Amino acid sequence: MAWDFATDPAFEEQLVWIEELVRNEIFPLETLDLDTPKLKEIIKPLQVMVKERGLFAAHLPPSLGGQGFGQVKLGLMNEILGMSPLAPLVFGNNAPDSGNAELLALGIEANGAEFQRECYLDPLLRGELSSGFSMTEPDAGADPTRITATASKDGDEWVINGHKWYTTNGSVADFLIVMVRTIPDVPARQGMSMLLVPKETPGVRVVRDIPTMEDPVVRAGSYGNHAEIIYEDVRVPLDHLIGHEGMGFALAQSRLGPGRIHHCMRWLGQSRRAFAMMCERAVSREVFGEPLAAKQTVQNWIADSAAEMSAARLMTLQAAWLIDLKGQKAARKEISMIKYFGAQVLYNVIDRAIQVHGGLGFSSDLPLEQMYRAARAARIYDGPDEVHRMTVARQILHDYEAVPEPTELIATRREAAKKHFAAQLELLSIDR
Ligand SMILES: Cc1cc2nc3c(=O)[nH]c(=O)nc-3n(C[C@H](O)[C@H](O)[C@H](O)COP(=O)(O)OP(=O)(O)OC[C@H]3O[C@@H](n4cnc5c(N)ncnc54)[C@H](O)[C@@H]3O)c2cc1C
Repeated sequence: MAWDFATDPAFEEQLVWIEELVRNEIFPLETLDLDTPKLKEIIKPLQVMVKERGLFAAHLPPSLGGQGFGQVKLGLMNEILGMSPLAPLVFGNNAPDSGNAELLALGIEANGAEFQRECYLDPLLRGELSSGFSMTEPDAGADPTRITATASKDGDEWVINGHKWYTTNGSVADFLIVMVRTIPDVPARQGMSMLLVPKETPGVRVVRDIPTMEDPVVRAGSYGNHAEIIYEDVRVPLDHLIGHEGMGFALAQSRLGPGRIHHCMRWLGQSRRAFAMMCERAVSREVFGEPLAAKQTVQNWIADSAAEMSAARLMTLQAAWLIDLKGQKAARKEISMIKYFGAQVLYNVIDRAIQVHGGLGFSSDLPLEQMYRAARAARIYDGPDEVHRMTVARQILHDYEAVPEPTELIATRREAAKKHFAAQLELLSIDR
């Protein structure tokens, strides 16, 4: 019996160090609006410090240079990193590279393709290569069984054809991981595979970086953009298969589970930052003769935000704890629950923070409006809210069976109780 909400003191020290680095060195970088090459250059000394501290790419298992922290510690770390969109890059665990590294590691473990480690995984971990994950298609997103991109064998090569979009970092990536159907005559879940595709391979055509709500006037070729890509007769050697043929769905699942914990904890970091801004403004700004903080509506926003963030944090850490204890499969319901709950909390807190700031909150003089636009996507990527709610509801309903009448029907229960307590009831009636 152990319900321990404490963080071990040695790791607490690491967390304090991380927060200082994020606040003192990374927050200022946000304001400089650097392009991708300059950004990568300027963060190099910070990455060295992170490596010296043993915190670089910490999500990886020790065999790949990670620390074997487990999901609870990684969650706590990501909570701090989430405060700045640039922090994951400095700590070597930015999406999609972090998830792609895990995919490659899993694939190599399954098929022993050591050259993938040498040519792709290791350089990715050292930050020398960057990657994209190309799964979603214009007509296939929430339901990946609809994916139509294919790859077929021709001699010693795969030939890939398909149309993908929303490949984050696709236009700046050195290589892409593409989800394709390779086995046509089986159910989709067994027929999908993942292939490694160097971005410069003939036939890979980046149509555009998609302008989004987060970035309506997109700067082509920037870090964090989402690319639309056409794969037309793209040829890669057979050994560019990740894991085994037909393993695509299973790989996608194992990539997304722990990744969602990290996402949710990063959202909490964002929420905390917006929350701090809200509280600071509430005590600083006066309206109608008193600080905003004296208004009950504002107090409600602060109290509700604090409670929602606390609930999301505990739920996320519990899911992380369950993964550490029993594995990802056992935590499926909890992982899905925090995905939609956490995304909504993030959205709510930023929205309230904007409201407390009024016109200033809506302006680009503060980071809130950018945070708000980015937060909206959290309810869509990595599976939209509705799909995760479906997973949760299905898992819960699995434990229930249809009955001819409600189990709690009082009349039926009363009859049963009369039988159960017949002897005592008999005695009671005699006593009276
Ligand atoms: C910022 C961002 C980054 C992304 N990065 C990547 C990436 O790097 N790689 C990649 O492959 N993809 C990426 N995506 C794509 C993302 O994974 C998909 O957008 C997501 O899976 C939803 O698919 P869809 O857009 O096709 O929506 P659809 O599948 O068309 O779904 C539309 C809506 O239908 C509803 N819906 C769906 N299923 C159900 C259901 N079962 N019950 C009730 N309602 C339902 C939901 O409201 C959903 O939002 C990214 C998306 C965004 C916004």
